Amino acid sequence: MSDVVAGTLYVVATPIGHLGDLTPRARSVLSGVTVIGAEYTRNTGGLLAHFGIGTPTIAVHDHNEGDVAAKLVARLQAGDSLALVSDAGTPLVSDPGYRLVRAAREAGCPVVPIPGACAAIAALSVAGIPSDRFCFEGFLPAKAGARRERLASLVGETRTLVFYESAHRIEEMLADAVAIFGPEREASLGRELTKRFETLLGPTLAAIAEAVAADPNQRRGEFVLVVRGNEDQEAAQLAEGKRLYAKLAEHMKPSAAAKLAAELSGAPRKSLYGGE
Ligand code: SAM
Repeated sequence: MSDVVAGTLYVVATPIGHLGDLTPRARSVLSGVTVIGAEYTRNTGGLLAHFGIGTPTIAVHDHNEGDVAAKLVARLQAGDSLALVSDAGTPLVSDPGYRLVRAAREAGCPVVPIPGACAAIAALSVAGIPSDRFCFEGFLPAKAGARRERLASLVGETRTLVFYESAHRIEEMLADAVAIFGPEREASLGRELTKRFETLLGPTLAAIAEAVAADPNQRRGEFVLVVRGNEDQEAAQLAEGKRLYAKLAEHMKPSAAAKLAAELSGAPRKSLYGGE
């Protein structure tokens, strides 16, 4: 019996490496839909060929999603069924797709998740770091200044943090994380998860940065960095207070900046005045 219903958009997770992670239901949906919207049709073509799936694909990526969404919704309304996949893992997670999903839902078309692999969740599941509350931060900004500013804004975050990173920025990103969160902050780096060279590094940011700097092989592939949240509430408030003070003092008198930064962060005003 087919898993596919006419007029429905299926959001289908695909493997993040190991092809055995494509679920039987995903396989059945990909075989049964009229068309598959894919981020990179060539890469998805490889996956489909491996499983002997002949369904046609159509490109849905960040640059055409707005235009293509309307056309695909019209096809759904005409009775076609559609699967959305990304290059790897779960669509919409640091990947395109939300515009299409929104357009389909606004048009009253059923949207059905077909869950499966997601690099963030895979990394979190093996990090051994508290995972009852976590923030998915995705990719940090590419430019050093903006990246450091984003990290600085997260110093006081008490929940576990999850970041994506690519091979060409992993070293700089780790160096910034060590400098901003501190070398002893607990962390876990998942590299090439589910693939041949899968590696887990830890237990602190300094240890991870050192291991990655020492071995070029540790800089290859795809990465998820999981960082334990700041458990020292006082230190977190102070860090946030100092960050706010530095910004506000650019625009107002130091005394007023300290008052406002203290109010917003909960840090004592005396600890901020002077920017120390
Ligand atoms: N939608 C995907 C998901 O569900 O995980 C993420 C897509 S995002 C464009 C790609 C990033 O995910 C990579 O740069 C890396 O940070 C992470 N990633 C994907 N596959 C991975 C893997 N096998 N091991 C570690 N990280 C991976």
